[in-house]
Amino acid sequence: MKGPTMRRAWSVVRTLMARREVPRPELRCPRCRAELERFWYYCPNCSKQLVWGDVQRETGAECRYCRWVVSDSFSVCPWCGRDIADRDSSAEPLKKPKGFKYERRCRRCHGGVQYPMQWCPWCGKAQPWKYERFQNDCPHCDRGVDDWMETCPWCGRDATGRDLVRQALRRVRRLLIVSRVKDWDYRILLRPGVSGVSPAAPKVIEIDRRFVSRKRRRDEISWNMLTGLILHELGHSFLYHNWTWTRTGRFRRAFGEVRRAYRVADEHWVDFERHRVATTLVDYVSRYAATHPQEDFAETFRFYVTRRGRLRELFGEFGRKRKGVRVFEKFLVLHDYVRSLRGWR
Ligand SMILES: [Zn+2]
Ligand SMILES: [Zn+2]
Ligand SMILES: [Zn+2]
Ligand SMILES: [Zn+2]
Ligand SMILES: [Zn+2]
Repeated sequence: MKGPTMRRAWSVVRTLMARREVPRPELRCPRCRAELERFWYYCPNCSKQLVWGDVQRETGAECRYCRWVVSDSFSVCPWCGRDIADRDSSAEPLKKPKGFKYERRCRRCHGGVQYPMQWCPWCGKAQPWKYERFQNDCPHCDRGVDDWMETCPWCGRDATGRDLVRQALRRVRRLLIVSRVKDWDYRILLRPGVSGVSPAAPKVIEIDRRFVSRKRRRDEISWNMLTGLILHELGHSFLYHNWTWTRTGRFRRAFGEVRRAYRVADEHWVDFERHRVATTLVDYVSRYAATHPQEDFAETFRFYVTRRGRLRELFGEFGRKRKGVRVFEKFLVLHDYVRSLRGWR
């Protein structure tokens, strides 16, 4: 296409585009201005409860209970699950009423549903979604959350799960302070799967939520074990955060080569309950420490912080348990480094 024909074609496209131009709905939180996705129930940043009404006059209908956008043909509000059937409701499940997208069929009635409808608008069946665009699962409702989120956009509860382990976190924080370990902005998250720290996100510490969620009562939770596990994982995080330190001769003589390949996934968690140094292996604080130089460091870090950085007390115990010189040196290396970070000598 050339010349006038081309120009005419463009003007047609422009007219079509102009006709389609409708104001986009505001996808920012009205309170804190954080970016949102449409149909989130809560702002993940400030936890404000959100309402997605028919602001663009797409369907001409809102749920009389929750005020979210619905279609006259719906029988159930897909957002709050309440019965909104009236004479306009469709007798048959539809695929895609005006103003809504067809994403898949409801497994029970085969009507069309759109992400992230929580209930089928035709038969009311609860709708599961995979929430694939999210980094992880909410520890409270299992729906998708990202690591930066404070509030779950679906259930409005703490997306990090830290509310479930307050006791352990308080203890960890206190121990770090008395051990004089400088804060490095780590972020603890309760997640399904295994506990660990990924070198790709050294400040994010994932703690396996089964230690908490599978318990029926709060007093069934082993807070000692959980505190130990968190401190061990913090050890990994601390090391990643101070990675250049691992290249120094003194560090390498004490802990060895931490770059040896392996995957950090701590499943041998039983060890983490112990406060006392194990007697079995001469050169390591615990049996688990002997599995890899990075585990050795994480375990040394855990003992150092659990015992409040009190080297004299620790060394007394090492002497009685006939630990090797290398164990003393590991703690000295860590102790000196922790002090150097605070500008001490
Ligand atoms: Zn907000
Ligand atoms: Zn509703
Ligand atoms: Zn259905
Ligand atoms: Zn949730
Ligand atoms: Zn570990």
